[in-house]
Amino acid sequence: MLITPAALQICWRKCNRRNSLHGYIVTSDLRFNHSTIQRFNAAEPFVILIMSVLVVGSIAIDTVKTPVEEHSELLGGSASYAALAASFFSPVRLVGVVGNDFPKSEFDFWRSRKIDTEGVQQVSGKTFRWSGEYSWDLNTRRTRSIDLNVFKDFEPELPEPFRQTDFVLLANIAPSLQTHVLDQMERPRFVVADTMDLWIETARSDLDALLRRVDLLILNDSEAREMTKETSLIKAGRRIQKMGPVHVAIKKGEHGALLFGEGDRFFSCGAYPLEDIHDPTGAGDTFAGGMAGYLAGTVKKVHFNDLRKAMIYGSVLASFCVEAFSLERLRNLSMEEITKRYETFKLMSQFEVPPE
Ligand code: AMP
Repeated sequence: MLITPAALQICWRKCNRRNSLHGYIVTSDLRFNHSTIQRFNAAEPFVILIMSVLVVGSIAIDTVKTPVEEHSELLGGSASYAALAASFFSPVRLVGVVGNDFPKSEFDFWRSRKIDTEGVQQVSGKTFRWSGEYSWDLNTRRTRSIDLNVFKDFEPELPEPFRQTDFVLLANIAPSLQTHVLDQMERPRFVVADTMDLWIETARSDLDALLRRVDLLILNDSEAREMTKETSLIKAGRRIQKMGPVHVAIKKGEHGALLFGEGDRFFSCGAYPLEDIHDPTGAGDTFAGGMAGYLAGTVKKVHFNDLRKAMIYGSVLASFCVEAFSLERLRNLSMEEITKRYETFKLMSQFEVPPE
């Protein structure tokens, strides 16, 4: 099916007028990104349902110390990373809370990326603050301080149009808040959730209740082991599936990630090899945002093969994230760079190649 650029424009305008970014539009697979829609050349015949992704999580001001540098007053928080990563692939509806010290420039930036901020409450008080310090291997991290501030009384309240969003990413926050968001949604098609060791240790029953409503759970290797008391990650992944999520993605940091699907469906990928890592903060959130955004922006019904690709896009985005402090690399990232690294990833993953 071929749609002219004019038809595409009409479709996009209709979607926006309904205050819903859902709609059929033409894309050229992942060379598409919604900010380039106006410029899209419809010569390539793809018709894909572009759906928004709702992202809820923390929005923070971080201080990060690595063995070589320390920076403060950085934009951070699980939702900040996840939303920006997802926005490369699909429209984003952001839900969170900030204080009155939060820079207006960040709202302007989100809007410039078609991240809908109607769900971000700005209340009086200070924004959530977190400070972390990395050891020499940049793998182990110690939390130096955490000030919940306005996050303490945060009750996510979804604006009416947000409630019909098809894809949901419950980025890392307390499972009770993640559940509170889900409770306000009208039958989302696909729910992705991220979590952390803190909630496994302190809010296990809330987390268990949430898991039964999740389609894809993303967590890291130590969290999967802690959650299941299994040493084998394969056993851990399968055991977590029995707790509710149909799909489980286990991140292994610089060693890649594992994906578990229905039946014996399984996928494993490496991580993109990087020479210089400046700040690993937010890599996990970016991975989750990249996965959820890719799924929302690209597929109507999620199949295991889509999840495999989503995992590579998540890994690609995360590899860019760690190249600079805070969200600086993601702010300057182009779709061309993402596509190029995705193609390199593809080549690197093949072990049978034609003779040179
Ligand atoms: P990650 O490196 O993926 O674990 O995510 C780091 C981000 O998570 C930082 O920007 C922090 O602001 C944020 N963060 C740290 N602790 C928490 C917490 N308990 N709940 C929500 N977000 C947090």
